[in-house]
Amino acid sequence: MTGIAEEAAALSSRQRSTLRSRLIEDREATAVLVARLMSDIASFQDSVKDSVADDEHDPEGPTLAFERSQSTAILGQTRDHLVQIDSALARLDDGSYGVCSTCARPIPIARLEVRPYSTQCVTCAGKMRR
Ligand SMILES: [Zn+2]
Repeated sequence: MTGIAEEAAALSSRQRSTLRSRLIEDREATAVLVARLMSDIASFQDSVKDSVADDEHDPEGPTLAFERSQSTAILGQTRDHLVQIDSALARLDDGSYGVCSTCARPIPIARLEVRPYSTQCVTCAGKMRR
């Protein structure tokens, strides 16, 4: 058997296990961040409630609301990142990892080292952005 199978096997099993542990580390750190953002948002909600109850004209009110909306936006991005990591780990398990989802060519190892959760090669990712 030659051709596509060989090309897809561009990653050695050692490279795969290195990338897998990078993804697992990233997943742990990201899960911690999600938990922290959620508790931040919960405490903002309590503070906003308290400030409304104590004093309707509390100058901290709008600031807290702004901070909460920032945290909510970051939480959304962080959760998306968690989904990307999980899907990369699933691709490592099913053998489709490291192959561009658009053109089916192998994603260069240099790109995977920077973004182990990449689903596309540089060319296709560049086209998407435009
Ligand atoms: Zn591609």
